[in-house]
Amino acid sequence: MAASADRDVPLPRPKPVQPQALQPSAPAVSYSNLGENAPGRSEQCKAALNAAGASFKWVGTATEGSCTIGDAVELASVNNGTDTISFRQKPVMACEFAALLARWTGEVAGPVMADHAGARLKAIDTGPGIVCRRRAGGAKAKISEHAKGNALDITGFRLSDKRNLQIGGNLGKQEKLAFKALRTSACGYFTTVLGPGSNPAHQHHFHFDRAKRGKSYNYRICE
Ligand SMILES: [Zn+2]
Repeated sequence: MAASADRDVPLPRPKPVQPQALQPSAPAVSYSNLGENAPGRSEQCKAALNAAGASFKWVGTATEGSCTIGDAVELASVNNGTDTISFRQKPVMACEFAALLARWTGEVAGPVMADHAGARLKAIDTGPGIVCRRRAGGAKAKISEHAKGNALDITGFRLSDKRNLQIGGNLGKQEKLAFKALRTSACGYFTTVLGPGSNPAHQHHFHFDRAKRGKSYNYRICE
Protein backbone atom coordinates (compact mmCIF):
# COMPACT_ATOMS: atom_id res chain seq x y z
CA MET A 1 0.00 0.00 0.00
CA ALA A 2 1.04 3.45 -0.77
CA ALA A 3 0.58 4.54 2.82
CA SER A 4 2.93 1.90 4.24
CA ALA A 5 5.40 2.54 1.42
CA ASP A 6 5.37 6.16 2.46
CA ARG A 7 6.15 5.15 5.99
CA ASP A 8 9.13 3.13 4.81
CA VAL A 9 10.71 6.08 3.08
CA PRO A 10 13.48 7.14 5.39
CA LEU A 11 13.07 10.66 6.54
CA PRO A 12 15.95 12.96 5.79
CA ARG A 13 18.22 12.98 8.76
CA PRO A 14 18.08 16.22 10.62
CA LYS A 15 21.35 18.04 10.41
CA PRO A 16 23.29 17.59 13.60
CA VAL A 17 23.02 20.70 15.69
CA GLN A 18 26.43 22.23 16.03
CA PRO A 19 27.03 22.99 19.64
CA GLN A 20 27.73 26.66 20.14
CA ALA A 21 31.19 27.44 21.33
CA LEU A 22 30.00 28.12 24.80
CA GLN A 23 32.56 29.34 27.24
CA PRO A 24 32.33 27.63 30.57
CA SER A 25 31.70 30.23 33.18
CA ALA A 26 34.99 31.28 34.61
CA PRO A 27 35.76 30.00 38.06
CA ALA A 28 36.08 32.91 40.41
CA VAL A 29 39.69 33.89 40.80
CA SER A 30 40.34 33.26 44.42
CA TYR A 31 42.11 35.98 46.28
CA SER A 32 41.87 34.64 49.76
CA ASN A 33 41.97 30.84 49.71
CA LEU A 34 45.53 30.56 48.55
CA GLY A 35 48.56 32.35 49.89
CA GLU A 36 50.76 34.40 47.62
CA ASN A 37 53.14 31.52 46.93
CA ALA A 38 50.82 28.60 47.61
CA PRO A 39 51.29 25.58 45.35
CA GLY A 40 48.45 25.38 42.86
CA ARG A 41 47.92 29.10 42.67
CA SER A 42 49.52 29.35 39.23
CA GLU A 43 47.55 26.38 37.91
CA GLN A 44 44.32 27.82 39.25
CA CYS A 45 45.07 31.10 37.56
CA LYS A 46 45.89 29.45 34.23
CA ALA A 47 42.58 27.62 34.45
CA ALA A 48 40.80 30.92 35.05
CA LEU A 49 42.50 32.42 32.00
CA ASN A 50 41.53 29.43 29.87
CA ALA A 51 37.96 29.57 31.10
CA ALA A 52 37.82 33.23 30.13
CA GLY A 53 38.88 32.31 26.58
CA ALA A 54 42.31 33.91 26.87
CA SER A 55 45.22 33.14 24.58
CA PHE A 56 48.32 33.81 26.60
CA LYS A 57 51.93 32.89 27.11
CA TRP A 58 53.10 31.91 30.56
CA VAL A 59 56.13 34.06 31.33
CA GLY A 60 56.65 33.13 34.98
CA THR A 61 59.24 35.44 36.45
CA ALA A 62 59.25 38.81 34.72
CA THR A 63 61.79 41.48 35.56
CA GLU A 64 61.55 45.11 34.57
CA GLY A 65 64.24 47.34 36.03
CA SER A 66 64.33 46.64 39.77
CA CYS A 67 60.83 45.14 39.75
CA THR A 68 60.17 41.41 39.58
CA ILE A 69 56.90 39.52 39.54
CA GLY A 70 56.69 35.77 39.80
CA ASP A 71 53.57 34.75 37.94
CA ALA A 72 53.60 36.85 34.82
CA VAL A 73 51.62 36.12 31.68
CA GLU A 74 51.62 37.80 28.29
CA LEU A 75 48.06 38.27 27.12
CA ALA A 76 47.49 38.00 23.36
CA SER A 77 43.71 37.84 22.97
CA VAL A 78 40.39 36.85 24.45
CA ASN A 79 37.73 34.83 22.66
CA ASN A 80 34.29 35.02 24.21
CA GLY A 81 32.58 32.67 21.77
CA THR A 82 31.50 35.56 19.54
CA ASP A 83 34.61 37.61 18.97
CA THR A 84 38.35 37.34 19.30
CA ILE A 85 39.58 40.55 20.84
CA SER A 86 43.30 41.03 20.62
CA PHE A 87 45.68 42.94 22.83
CA ARG A 88 47.93 44.54 20.26
CA GLN A 89 50.78 45.38 22.62
CA LYS A 90 50.70 41.92 24.27
CA PRO A 91 50.93 43.33 27.80
CA VAL A 92 52.73 41.35 30.48
CA MET A 93 50.84 41.26 33.77
CA ALA A 94 50.47 39.29 36.97
CA CYS A 95 48.37 36.25 36.17
CA GLU A 96 45.43 37.04 38.41
CA PHE A 97 45.19 40.56 37.10
CA ALA A 98 45.33 39.19 33.54
CA ALA A 99 42.52 36.75 34.37
CA LEU A 100 40.31 39.59 35.59
CA LEU A 101 41.13 41.62 32.51
CA ALA A 102 40.33 38.66 30.25
CA ARG A 103 36.96 38.24 31.93
CA TRP A 104 36.08 41.92 31.66
CA THR A 105 37.14 41.93 28.00
CA GLY A 106 35.04 38.95 27.00
CA GLU A 107 32.08 39.37 29.33
CA VAL A 108 31.67 43.12 29.08
CA ALA A 109 33.89 45.03 26.67
CA GLY A 110 32.95 42.98 23.58
CA PRO A 111 29.16 42.99 24.11
CA VAL A 112 29.06 46.61 25.33
CA MET A 113 30.96 47.86 22.31
CA ALA A 114 28.78 45.87 19.91
CA ASP A 115 25.66 47.25 21.54
CA HIS A 116 26.62 50.90 22.00
CA ALA A 117 29.11 51.55 19.21
CA GLY A 118 27.46 49.32 16.61
CA ALA A 119 30.53 47.31 15.54
CA ARG A 120 32.48 44.38 16.92
CA LEU A 121 35.40 45.00 19.21
CA LYS A 122 38.51 43.66 17.48
CA ALA A 123 41.44 44.97 19.49
CA ILE A 124 42.44 46.92 22.56
CA ASP A 125 45.46 49.21 22.67
CA THR A 126 47.31 49.27 25.96
CA GLY A 127 50.50 50.13 27.73
CA PRO A 128 53.10 47.41 28.25
CA GLY A 129 51.64 46.00 31.49
CA ILE A 130 54.44 45.71 34.02
CA VAL A 131 56.18 49.06 34.33
CA CYS A 132 58.69 49.57 37.11
CA ARG A 133 57.82 52.94 38.61
CA ARG A 134 56.40 54.77 41.54
CA ARG A 135 53.08 56.48 41.48
CA ALA A 136 53.03 60.09 40.36
CA GLY A 137 54.69 62.10 43.12
CA GLY A 138 58.37 61.27 42.93
CA ALA A 139 60.78 59.00 44.77
CA LYS A 140 58.79 58.89 48.01
CA ALA A 141 55.48 58.03 46.38
CA LYS A 142 54.08 54.53 46.76
CA ILE A 143 55.16 51.82 44.34
CA SER A 144 52.69 51.82 41.49
CA GLU A 145 50.47 48.80 40.91
CA HIS A 146 52.05 48.80 37.45
CA ALA A 147 55.32 47.76 39.07
CA LYS A 148 53.59 44.68 40.49
CA GLY A 149 52.00 43.73 37.18
CA ASN A 150 48.71 44.51 38.82
CA ALA A 151 47.58 47.28 36.52
CA LEU A 152 47.03 48.13 32.90
CA ASP A 153 46.54 51.37 31.00
CA ILE A 154 44.11 51.16 28.08
CA THR A 155 44.49 53.83 25.43
CA GLY A 156 42.00 52.84 22.76
CA PHE A 157 39.68 50.36 21.10
CA ARG A 158 39.63 49.18 17.48
CA LEU A 159 36.38 48.08 15.89
CA SER A 160 35.45 45.78 13.02
CA ASP A 161 34.42 48.75 10.87
CA LYS A 162 37.96 50.15 11.14
CA ARG A 163 37.08 52.80 13.69
CA ASN A 164 39.99 53.44 16.02
CA LEU A 165 38.55 55.02 19.16
CA GLN A 166 41.08 56.76 21.36
CA ILE A 167 40.42 57.57 24.96
CA GLY A 168 40.30 61.35 25.23
CA GLY A 169 39.85 61.62 21.46
CA ASN A 170 36.93 62.97 19.47
CA LEU A 171 34.03 60.65 20.04
CA GLY A 172 30.48 60.56 18.79
CA LYS A 173 27.51 60.31 21.12
CA GLN A 174 27.24 56.51 20.92
CA GLU A 175 30.98 56.11 21.31
CA LYS A 176 30.92 58.25 24.42
CA LEU A 177 28.15 56.07 25.80
CA ALA A 178 30.21 52.99 25.06
CA PHE A 179 33.22 54.41 26.87
CA LYS A 180 31.12 55.36 29.87
CA ALA A 181 29.68 51.86 30.05
CA LEU A 182 33.12 50.27 29.71
CA ARG A 183 34.50 52.41 32.49
CA THR A 184 31.60 51.86 34.84
CA SER A 185 31.55 48.12 34.24
CA ALA A 186 35.26 47.86 34.99
CA CYS A 187 34.50 48.87 38.57
CA GLY A 188 32.90 45.45 39.00
CA TYR A 189 36.20 43.74 38.23
CA PHE A 190 39.01 46.03 39.34
CA THR A 191 39.60 47.91 42.57
CA THR A 192 40.80 51.10 40.89
CA VAL A 193 39.33 52.58 37.72
CA LEU A 194 40.55 55.99 36.55
CA GLY A 195 40.22 57.87 33.28
CA PRO A 196 39.63 61.28 31.74
CA GLY A 197 38.36 63.64 34.42
CA SER A 198 39.94 61.71 37.30
CA ASN A 199 43.09 63.82 37.16
CA PRO A 200 45.31 65.34 34.48
CA ALA A 201 47.49 62.20 34.25
CA HIS A 202 44.56 60.14 32.97
CA GLN A 203 43.18 62.30 30.15
CA HIS A 204 44.17 59.79 27.49
CA HIS A 205 43.84 56.39 29.07
CA PHE A 206 41.83 54.24 31.40
CA HIS A 207 43.83 52.91 34.32
CA PHE A 208 42.60 49.63 35.80
CA ASP A 209 44.32 48.01 38.75
CA ARG A 210 43.78 45.50 41.48
CA ALA A 211 45.28 47.32 44.43
CA LYS A 212 44.51 45.73 47.77
CA ARG A 213 43.61 48.36 50.32
CA GLY A 214 43.64 46.88 53.77
CA LYS A 215 42.71 43.23 54.23
CA SER A 216 40.28 42.77 51.38
CA TYR A 217 39.62 43.78 47.81
CA ASN A 218 36.36 45.43 48.79
CA TYR A 219 37.54 49.02 48.96
CA ARG A 220 37.34 50.45 45.49
CA ILE A 221 38.10 53.69 43.74
CA CYS A 222 35.76 54.04 40.79
CA GLU A 223 36.06 57.41 39.07
ZN1 LIG B 1 48.10 53.39 35.05
